[in-house]
Amino acid sequence: MDSVGQAIVFGGLPELDRPQKTMVCPTMIRRPRLARDAYVEGVLRGDRTILSQAITLIESLRPEDTELAQDVLEQCLPYAGDSIRVGITGVPGAGKSTLIEVLGAYITTERGEKVAVLAVDPSSTVSHGSILGDKTRMETLANDERAFIRPSPSGGSLGGVARRTRETMKLCEAAGYHNVLVETVGVGQSETTVRDMVDFFLLLMLAGAGDELQGIKRGIVEMTDLIAFNKADGNNRAKAEAARREYENALHLFSPTGTGWTPRVITCSARAREGISEIWDAVLEHNAWLTSTGQLVKIRQEQVKRWMHELIEQALREAFLQHAGVREKIAAFEQDVVEGRLSPFRAARRLIAIYTENDL
Ligand code: GDP
Repeated sequence: MDSVGQAIVFGGLPELDRPQKTMVCPTMIRRPRLARDAYVEGVLRGDRTILSQAITLIESLRPEDTELAQDVLEQCLPYAGDSIRVGITGVPGAGKSTLIEVLGAYITTERGEKVAVLAVDPSSTVSHGSILGDKTRMETLANDERAFIRPSPSGGSLGGVARRTRETMKLCEAAGYHNVLVETVGVGQSETTVRDMVDFFLLLMLAGAGDELQGIKRGIVEMTDLIAFNKADGNNRAKAEAARREYENALHLFSPTGTGWTPRVITCSARAREGISEIWDAVLEHNAWLTSTGQLVKIRQEQVKRWMHELIEQALREAFLQHAGVREKIAAFEQDVVEGRLSPFRAARRLIAIYTENDL
């Protein structure tokens, strides 16, 4: 038992953890930062409170936190890795959080292992965490000592949210969470981003009237290792089974995942807790397949390479947008482009020239 030992969904109020230079309001007392070693030792010990604080540090957008955050992460990295990373997507209402709750309980109870649940939801910038943000969701799992639940970091672009989730995943792994579930909403770009940081991708679907492909972009299906038709219970059971068969037949129209793994289609009911072990068996089988074919090592190498490139891109983007000359001129260039006086190419080149202080 760690020092908390009660119902916790970590995160949500990162600003409370931030050091305060000037007291503004007595109700907003911010906890000071810990020393680097205190974070590292706490994380490695599996202390959920310190893990949570370390994640808050990593999620912090304050420039003065960056160095400490990177230091902590760097110290933890050798102890990270070697976990089973599963991305879970599906349209809102598909039953993702209900499924994660029962799948998480299956992992902690049936398999006796720790599980971390993270989310990637760029829209949480606006909604302050539309997925995993509501503490009433996943109540049972949140009470489970072997589970750690963290809502999506809020603030910033999808790239920024994804980077912080990737880093959070590393910290969780260093804290002994060898199973990581990453939830993402089945809209926009976020599933591609999550696909890049996990090994296994589960698409949760609902058997609906009409074309089962509707609403689900072809691209998502192509990167899926397992499709599960959820809510296969009560009157919906037969419909879900029909959808499963239809999809299984249609899957050969899609190209394989690139790893040689044949995607599976099953039915499940998160509510009735049916099909849960089948889902996890597929995850484990897939993991064994990737390991035995040497692909897991390659995937990890690719992931870490991509991570580096993302960091470069992000740092360059930030530096560019903060450059005094660029800041001064960018609005005017935007206007010129909008009104057709300047082509986007030329505008981009000129702005980059301002940034690099080159003549173009
Ligand atoms: P999310 O938006 O994808 O996270 O979906 P939720 O987990 O919040 O579920 C949306 C609704 O579907 C909730 O009312 C759930 O109780 C319900 N639900 C989830 N899984 C099942 C299931 O297996 N069977 C049935 N009948 N309802 C379910």
